[in-house]
Amino acid sequence: MLNSVLRSSAAAIAARSGVVFSIAGLLASGVVGCAASGGKPVPAGVHKTVDQQPFAVVNAVKVPVPEIRMGNPATIERILHEGKYNNQVMDQLRHLTVEIGPRLTGSTRNYESRLWVAEQFKAWGMSNVRLEKWGTIPVRFDRGPSSGKIYLTTEKRNEDGSTSPAEPIMLREMELTTLSWAKGTDGPQRGPVIKMPEDDSQYAQIKDKLKGAWILMDRPSREGMRGLRWQLGDDYRRRADARQRLAEGTKKIEELPILERLAFDGVAGYITASRDERVWTGAIPGWRELDPANVPPDVHVQVRMSDYDCLNSRLADGESVEVEINLENKFIPGPIECFNVIAEIPGTEKPDEVVIFSAHLDSWDGPGSQGCTDNGTGSASMIEAARILTSVGAKPARTIRFVLWDGEEQGLLGSAEYVDHLKKTGELDNVSACFVDDGGTNYQGGAPALPSQVDMLAAATAPVNGHFYDTADDKPLNVNVRTVETLGTGGGSDHASFNRVGVPGFYWDERGRADYGYGWHTQFDRIDLAIPEYLMQSATCSAITAYNLACAPGLLPREVKEEKQAAP
Ligand SMILES: [Zn+2]
Repeated sequence: MLNSVLRSSAAAIAARSGVVFSIAGLLASGVVGCAASGGKPVPAGVHKTVDQQPFAVVNAVKVPVPEIRMGNPATIERILHEGKYNNQVMDQLRHLTVEIGPRLTGSTRNYESRLWVAEQFKAWGMSNVRLEKWGTIPVRFDRGPSSGKIYLTTEKRNEDGSTSPAEPIMLREMELTTLSWAKGTDGPQRGPVIKMPEDDSQYAQIKDKLKGAWILMDRPSREGMRGLRWQLGDDYRRRADARQRLAEGTKKIEELPILERLAFDGVAGYITASRDERVWTGAIPGWRELDPANVPPDVHVQVRMSDYDCLNSRLADGESVEVEINLENKFIPGPIECFNVIAEIPGTEKPDEVVIFSAHLDSWDGPGSQGCTDNGTGSASMIEAARILTSVGAKPARTIRFVLWDGEEQGLLGSAEYVDHLKKTGELDNVSACFVDDGGTNYQGGAPALPSQVDMLAAATAPVNGHFYDTADDKPLNVNVRTVETLGTGGGSDHASFNRVGVPGFYWDERGRADYGYGWHTQFDRIDLAIPEYLMQSATCSAITAYNLACAPGLLPREVKEEKQAAP
């Protein structure tokens, strides 16, 4: 019975969508769960039963698959099967985050991760596997172990009535970070905590206690990550300016504002608090021109609000507290070469025409972070998509190029240089599109598309629909192609480098229950934030979309820029 239904519906679907499905393929595509999985249990995240009719989703509406020729249905079925029943995306992610760790641009771990990715690509038989240099940076920053402890120092009364310091009580371990490329400590640095003086009289009262002290800064005046990073960066800038003015003799110490004056009092460092339990890592201003022999000497840590409250309330009670901070921040003089990792599945008919599927491999490197959801998850999904395609022997008509960008966190550095390079070589015209996965562990739940692109993207992503499932939210993980009037030229990730030059750049809409902001550049960005079922969908969705667009009749249509009519 089933087979006759399948036969008729297959024929119907084939007739309607012009794509010839093989029955075997339909069976392989998991109409019947266990049967399709060859009796193996259906993995979490895989739909137990699949809709009879393949469908696309456009502007949140289920629609028939547009009749545009895509890839070989048998290959699509093998991709789906591999993505559903033998998905290794979590192994890729575990290696990047647990085995290697956070991958700051130019750091040793970043370079190691690129060698590892290239090795995988080579092992899977991909072509033109290369570490392509996009530029150099002046200093390699390798962040070593970082720790911070709070001690309560009290006095004890001796038998003779005298008092002497009692054994300090360790109150808590702080969670902290410094900006990347910022100075650390020379071993554990212990000292009393002194509240930032508000005016000259307060400053005068504590001046003789400042040497070796940690200065507890006022609560940050601005909310959130950007505000705090800006605040910290500004403090570095102000101290650097003060040093320069003193060196030039244009300022005297006593003329400086208190923040700058403290830089000449031999303080151990500065403690700034976040507005919640997250601490955010970014780069110190001027990291790209940093002179390894002249790294700003200031040690400025950012701690959680609860760490601040612990310190501040004790001080407010008139108690004396100390902190011991150890930050093994290493600076290796450059120039340090930096690379994007690139590998290809060559096209069989139009090898010069290319579809790019990508993610940035670099991450921030705050203590505690493993660079998981920004952007280990996107990178692992791309690496796994490549593995799936090579393991099923996909033979696309055009070349599928996988790229793991670098320098994204510092301003799309790797992708901008890459696009410039393609511009110079005239290869931009042959790029159908660049897709970027950089939205955390959520699944590839959609993509924006110009009206002229909707049908091709809907046809390319349709085979994914109905095959993956969110066990917590009890809903399918489908791909919604949403119509937009423009792809724009901006955007917070590497797709923007392509849109800027008129090449379609797509930033996947990542949907799901994960709160991206929790791990975004914070100490919490660890593998426990990953949601495997979402990443299985992302890897498989990218494999299928890449393959289909590489086999499509033409390149994706480009945005027609309205010629700005000269004002009369
Ligand atoms: Zn990112």
